[in-house]
Amino acid sequence: MARLEKEKAVNVQVLLRCRPFSEDELLANAPQVITCNEVKREVSVNQNVQGKQVDRTFVFDKVFGPQSKQKDLYDQAIIPIVNEVLEGFNCTIFAYGQTGTGKTYTMEGSGRRTGNDELPPDAGVISRAIKQIFDTLELQNAEYSVKVTFLELYNEETTDLLAPEDFSKIPDEKKRPLSLMEDGKGGVIVRGLEEVVVNNATEIFNLLDRGSAKRRTAETLLNKQSSRSHSIFSITIHIKESTPDGEELIKCGKLNLVDLAGSENVCRSGAREGRAREAGEINKSLLTLGRVITSLVEHLGHVPYRDSKLTRLLRDSLGGRTKTCIIATVSPSVHCIEETLSTLDYAQRAK
Ligand code: ADP
Ligand code: MG
Repeated sequence: MARLEKEKAVNVQVLLRCRPFSEDELLANAPQVITCNEVKREVSVNQNVQGKQVDRTFVFDKVFGPQSKQKDLYDQAIIPIVNEVLEGFNCTIFAYGQTGTGKTYTMEGSGRRTGNDELPPDAGVISRAIKQIFDTLELQNAEYSVKVTFLELYNEETTDLLAPEDFSKIPDEKKRPLSLMEDGKGGVIVRGLEEVVVNNATEIFNLLDRGSAKRRTAETLLNKQSSRSHSIFSITIHIKESTPDGEELIKCGKLNLVDLAGSENVCRSGAREGRAREAGEINKSLLTLGRVITSLVEHLGHVPYRDSKLTRLLRDSLGGRTKTCIIATVSPSVHCIEETLSTLDYAQRAK
């Protein structure tokens, strides 16, 4: 049994992306402490921290330095994952890192879409994946359906970012979080979650904008910060195919795109020093995700999916015959060095 478990391939890919210096950092003349070697897939941290010289090198599946463009990351790392989804598998892409290091930039990107088919250069993974999916489906000339959901997890509570009503007009007592229910097949159903059928890329882009706007409204209304919440955008594809001998076959694949809460929520609260419980209260999901990935990578028998809502929600898309990609994001600046080392350690453990 143990042998069998060990032989199962694990499809966890870890990418590292270092953002460029911000204007403020440039003005402050912040020294650069990170060196990225994209060819050797290495990231080095070299700095004297409080009298102690730190020289560490980490190796990842791919490394994207400050000059890398959205398209580089997508073309080199994400296209094959989306192809898997189109072949009928479930895949999950996470952005993990300290607040301000480029998780949302990487996933959602910035820049307005113009009316035509082209994506702006700043478009992130989500928009590019949507485009790849519809471009491929339209070429295939097969019958298909595409559904999306968009939800947010804050303090272990789930909010539907696609619910049709105007969030700002709902009385407080009615702002009930959604509840999770096991489906008996290893997955989980989110009761009442809005599942929207979409016919083309433009419709998804509009939904995405609506969901992101709602996330911002909810953020102000409930006085919470997006740095402490996770958002999960999921695309489910069904493709009807006919085999040469006339049999009909339905392929079903799901892609989850997850913008995680800022990693400082776990590290600063002392998760490393045995105060995991307190940290767990602050962000149980982030902590459990690390354990789930470690269990998958190290082929431990027990995978603690049930310990957090995030991992329960993603259970059918983590482990087994699925592909997982973690994009760890860091800042090049000396001011973030402690968090950067935490992120690099976390990401390294997932390899
Ligand atoms: P996070 O979501 O991790 O808190 P953001 O994605 O909001 O961080 O990024 C913080 C700021 O840095 C934003 O203004 C964003 O546009 C910018 N930024 C992040 N990564 C990059 C990058 N690779 N290239 C250019 N600008 C970036
Ligand atoms: Mg963000």
